[in-house]
Amino acid sequence: MILAERVAQNLTALGFIALGVATAWEWNRYRGRAQAMLALSLGSLAIVAGLARIQALLGISGGAGVAFSVITIIAFLASGYFVLMFRDAFLPLSRRARQSAAVLFGVSCVVGVADVTVLSGASPGVMAVAAAELILAWIVFVLEPIIRFWLASRSLPSVQKARMRALSFGFAGLIAILVFDVFGGGAVQSPAAIIATQLIALAMVPIIYVSFAPPAILRGIWRMGETAELRAAIQDLLIFSPTRQDLAEKATGWAKRLLGAQGAFIVDSEGTIVASSGVEDREVIEIMAARIGAPEGGIEASRPGRAPAIVTPLHLAEGIGYLGVTAGQFTPLFGSDEVSQLRGYASSVTAGLERVRVTERLAAIEKNKTQFLNLASHELRGPLTVVRGYVSMLEGGLLGDLNERGRKAVPVISAKVLEMNGLIEQMIEAARLEDGALMLRPEPTDLRNVVSAAVDSARPLVEDGHQIRLKSPDRPVRVRVDGERIKTIVSNLVGNAIKYSPGGGPVEIELVSRGGIARVAVRDQGVGIAKEDMPILFTRFGRVWTPETDHLPGTGLGLYLGRQLARLHGGEITVESDPGRGSTFTLHLPVSEPSRAGSMQEQSSIHVS
Ligand code: ADP
Repeated sequence: MILAERVAQNLTALGFIALGVATAWEWNRYRGRAQAMLALSLGSLAIVAGLARIQALLGISGGAGVAFSVITIIAFLASGYFVLMFRDAFLPLSRRARQSAAVLFGVSCVVGVADVTVLSGASPGVMAVAAAELILAWIVFVLEPIIRFWLASRSLPSVQKARMRALSFGFAGLIAILVFDVFGGGAVQSPAAIIATQLIALAMVPIIYVSFAPPAILRGIWRMGETAELRAAIQDLLIFSPTRQDLAEKATGWAKRLLGAQGAFIVDSEGTIVASSGVEDREVIEIMAARIGAPEGGIEASRPGRAPAIVTPLHLAEGIGYLGVTAGQFTPLFGSDEVSQLRGYASSVTAGLERVRVTERLAAIEKNKTQFLNLASHELRGPLTVVRGYVSMLEGGLLGDLNERGRKAVPVISAKVLEMNGLIEQMIEAARLEDGALMLRPEPTDLRNVVSAAVDSARPLVEDGHQIRLKSPDRPVRVRVDGERIKTIVSNLVGNAIKYSPGGGPVEIELVSRGGIARVAVRDQGVGIAKEDMPILFTRFGRVWTPETDHLPGTGLGLYLGRQLARLHGGEITVESDPGRGSTFTLHLPVSEPSRAGSMQEQSSIHVS
């Protein structure tokens, strides 16, 4: 039993010595005040444990024994006092409390030293009072931080929470052992009790250790519950933030949460603070200045008297920006875990910022296009009206007789002016659509009349080799539409069918009304459209560039406008195409007088494939 007792005592002492060395090592790496206090506390505890064993093993007594006892007592008190100072490093105590703690420490040291020197041999009652004073002082030093850490841990992310709790729990365990030792009476002296308390103390060693240097696997386990939720939220933030500013602001908020930091900031490649939260601009500037020359993404600790900060680069297209976090009251310790967390997060933030940059640029281009449309169309319209006026005067002979060549030129000029007029009207219509200023004038209409008028208006485009065929039902196809707009859609589809079958060929226009839906299909046997080009057909200014069609004039607005107008009527335009063999564009519109009962429902929704 004695052997087991010894082994347990030696193991526990070794455990505490290892703990002291580990905290000193940690302090050597990060050099913050909090790290220093923790190292002093656990280092003192290691001295207590070590000296007691050395004294017992070597059987030291007499003068040397007294010296050992003095050092042990002072180290013991220091281990408690520095826990309180550790708490003070990031949860500052009031001045008064700090002074009282220092006085209590001083007085207790005197009492402790007296206890083993001048008072040794005094009555057991006096000795017991002195010992009780020491133990109580130690408990006062340690108990308050334990409760504080525990309370503070509640609002922290999971890893910090677990670390804080481990620290609280570890010290609480030591208090429990002390209390048991002092007040346990005779039972404490039994070998079994000694072994048990030693083993419990030993168990506290890893618990305290993980509070400042938790292994990756443990951090992974702690974080498990939180990771999925956090990842989803961060993904949301990165995908849906509309502007760079908005994203940067939200990203700093999440960085704080992710690392349990006090503050977070983002600085762009110019050094401008894009967003910051929980940290003053002045401090950001200080941190950025201090990190010049420091290793990328490492801990920045060269700001004496300030909480540690970590800064990691953001590799943005315009240069290197930085994301940084500052430690705060409840998170005095940043370790390699936080550094790698921040690095991973920084790459997501970089991707998000780049995405927003591209989106913002695209939006600016779109806006420019709209402005251009508006400006160009209105500026072109005035001069063209004048030209049209003169052309019709020329046609009517009001400007005198023309010679033979002049007479041949006038119809060509007239047709081209008409074409230009059509393009300008398209641009104006598109601009109206963008501004939400497009007003429809729906009226009951027989769609057959609109379609045949549209086909007629496209006939001037017909060149040799095209055969236009129109098939319409015998009975009226009643729709309620803005006739001019629908005519524009159909004549554009017919115009395209002619334009994009440069080798000639039949162009068939077929109107059918079935199931409450009227369909105008325009079929050609022209160049057709490749599958991969389909998505751009109906976009604003969307044109397909192929060797056969490069030279053909156009704005890329016709189909865009057509589809938007069709949709405003509750309809749709669809396309099917076989590259090299031709295309079919179909306009679908709801009919206003269903010819059969039960087709009302179909009328209200148009399904397209
Ligand atoms: P535009 O004809 O002025 O270029 P549209 O918006 O009417 O603009 O058409 C967009 C693009 O769709 C055209 O540039 C052309 O590449 C393609 N397209 C339209 N109609 C046809 C068709 N019938 N056959 C082949 N390609 C077509």
